[in-house]
Amino acid sequence: MRVAGLPLFTAQFPLAHARALPKPPPRFMNYRIADRAKVLSPSLTLAIDSKAKAMKAEGIDVVGFGAGEPDFDTPQHIKDACAAALAAGFTKYTPAAGIPELRQAIADKHQRENGLTYKPSQIIVSCGGKHSCYNVIMATCQEGDEVIIPAPYWLSYPEMVKLASAKPVIIETTDKSEFKVTPAQLRAAITPNTRLFILNSPSNPTGSVYSPEEIKALGDVCVEKGVLIMSDEIYEHLTYDGAVVKSVASFSPAHFEHTIIVHGFAKAWSMTGWRLGWTAAPEPIAKAIDAIQGHSTSNPTSFAQKGAVAALNGSQEHLKGWLVEFAKRRSFAHAKLNAMPGITCANAKGAFYLFPNISGTGLKSTEFCARLLEQEKVAAVPGIAFGADDYIRLSYATSMANIEKGLARMDNFVRGLKQ
Ligand SMILES: *Cc1c(COP(=O)(O)O)cnc(C)c1O
Repeated sequence: MRVAGLPLFTAQFPLAHARALPKPPPRFMNYRIADRAKVLSPSLTLAIDSKAKAMKAEGIDVVGFGAGEPDFDTPQHIKDACAAALAAGFTKYTPAAGIPELRQAIADKHQRENGLTYKPSQIIVSCGGKHSCYNVIMATCQEGDEVIIPAPYWLSYPEMVKLASAKPVIIETTDKSEFKVTPAQLRAAITPNTRLFILNSPSNPTGSVYSPEEIKALGDVCVEKGVLIMSDEIYEHLTYDGAVVKSVASFSPAHFEHTIIVHGFAKAWSMTGWRLGWTAAPEPIAKAIDAIQGHSTSNPTSFAQKGAVAALNGSQEHLKGWLVEFAKRRSFAHAKLNAMPGITCANAKGAFYLFPNISGTGLKSTEFCARLLEQEKVAAVPGIAFGADDYIRLSYATSMANIEKGLARMDNFVRGLKQ
């Protein structure tokens, strides 16, 4: 006999089934969300992005300046190394901190390019540079600690600090100082509770690059005050106009001891989807990160790590072509933006972003971006997402044709606003 509405097997064993049924849930389930998740800000970038995607899906010709990733493919030799590892069955768990071969290749990179001597045990490979930042903050910060973050900032830093129950302390900067904090500003922000200073040069979202002298001076303050530095160097290789990038760790043994480097494969090797980044840290911090990772993600993907070894040890020729292309787009966009009424755009010597000041249009960043998308079908990221409401972020990691079209539309939009 089959009871209507029940699958056959339960109908055949009605009593056993009844005994096995869990208690019915209470009528009003209390889906209490933990405080640590409730304090997070929703991602504005994602909101704009999903609106732009929805418009594209409707067949609307949207020009996107929102991309936080290079528009180039991962170089072939890196993909080949990964595919070979996969074919050879390199598909099992690896040590949580990454395969020894990759940790060695990263240590070699820092020796070769930065003059920094790390043991492989000080290198932890994680699931993306973002994950590396998260691990560093989790390993070093707790309730009562303050973390100094210059604004405009990469939008995940303050949220990660909040997840660690620590307090973000924001130092405001503007385009007048090329979005750079001064040693005096840093010194004034430090209190006995300051644990970490987050430095990101070249910067997302501004593209600003500190000179070696400026970096050293900030490092000097941290050394003097005993403050750790998390130096996010993921855009190290993406610079223009001869800008020199020097790691804050490289100025003295004391600077080295105060610095945790965060780096990754996403930008200079166009491997955003591979999810691979790393930290280079003093031994006790590396150990703590290893432990955290061992109980959360475990190792980053095994065969992806083999591709990363090829990325570091293989040819870097691809970068030359990318940099020529990025530089061309940047110069074009920079000039076009500065020719728009109400817009001024600081020079940016790194990464692949421009961060124009829109305050002359009379609009704040959210309204500016919403109307730009609505009226001209151009997607940009409101600066408020990065703690700077008078600016918007434009990524030039998109084709020259797109940049020309998008900026012509933006010019039209700005000229249409009542000045
Ligand atoms: C892209 C980026 C990262 C790392 O990104 P992943 O995709 O997680 O490797 C880290 N910091 C900044 C500032 C970035 O822009």
